[in-house]
Amino acid sequence: MITTSRRDLILSAAVAGAALGLDKSLAIAAPVEIQQTPAAPVRSQHTPAVPVSRQQTPDPNPGYLRYKVGDAECTALYDGIWEKAHDPKYFGNATTAEIKQALANAGLTTAFVPIPITVFIIKLNGKLVLCDVGGGDQVQAFNPKSVFVSGKMMANMKAAGIDPKEIETILISHFHPDHIFGLLEKKTNAPVFPNAEIIVPAAEYKWWTDPSLINRLPEGRRPLARRIQSVIPNWKNVLPVEGEDEVVPGIFFVKVPGHTPGHTAFHVTSGNTQLMISNDAAYVPALCVGHPSWHGAFDQDGPMAEVSRRKLLDRVVTDQMMICGSHFPWPGLAKIEKDGAGYVLATVRAS
Ligand SMILES: [Zn+2]
Repeated sequence: MITTSRRDLILSAAVAGAALGLDKSLAIAAPVEIQQTPAAPVRSQHTPAVPVSRQQTPDPNPGYLRYKVGDAECTALYDGIWEKAHDPKYFGNATTAEIKQALANAGLTTAFVPIPITVFIIKLNGKLVLCDVGGGDQVQAFNPKSVFVSGKMMANMKAAGIDPKEIETILISHFHPDHIFGLLEKKTNAPVFPNAEIIVPAAEYKWWTDPSLINRLPEGRRPLARRIQSVIPNWKNVLPVEGEDEVVPGIFFVKVPGHTPGHTAFHVTSGNTQLMISNDAAYVPALCVGHPSWHGAFDQDGPMAEVSRRKLLDRVVTDQMMICGSHFPWPGLAKIEKDGAGYVLATVRAS
């Protein structure tokens, strides 16, 4: 079933392809059988930083989903969810009542803003590429009062039958904690993926590693910059890339600045099939896809982020791409259409 309402559509795997007019190669596949015993949910370095009992949203089980984009095999990995308390300063030009209404219209809870974290692995042309790395069980430094659970990516990667040691390339969209702390061991900052090449947007790298940045940031954001500056420039396996290069065969960087100065999306192409990994350009779609002109506190430059968001979403609509994002409702795969001044999101979810 498909409607033209603003509500996110939850479609069964069986009907998703037909309802959305997808190419057969884009059909949602059920997760593959696991040959090995999934990692048990024991306390480990990946155990959430806050008690699970405080989290109201159940984790998906399994915490991974595999689907095809042309010849590419995509695996979505669940890393956790931030159940963000409502805050009148969250958006500069939207009230809490409007935010709650937008969440309700999308069929989401209004008790808090649900911000899931999903990481994607693309297997294409013989390469295994990890796209961002989640938060690595490390609470967001700039808002310590918020419950921010992450760090489930590694266990879900292993449950999906993927050995972290086999990841050759990691693409980083931007340097916010929920996208890069999974690169760092919690207490030592030791590299979690010492043998992978880590490709980062040059503009993002330059901005965060500029020593003069520390004094220009508000006090609450300085620990993040200090941590980045004390670690990332010392790693030999980090490769800053300018522009919109094909960074690995079949995957291109796409500039979407505003959320951060170098924020970047990843365009996956295989044959006639395309997927835009939008990262944080559309943030929580219930808010920013339906209302692209809302300017959130999470965007460093709200007007620039809006221009980038509209440009990216227009391209996705025009070229009839699939789209996913770091904070889309699990498992994050969607298709969008233009709707007046905004867009309509249809989330594809295996039932
Ligand atoms: Zn994010």
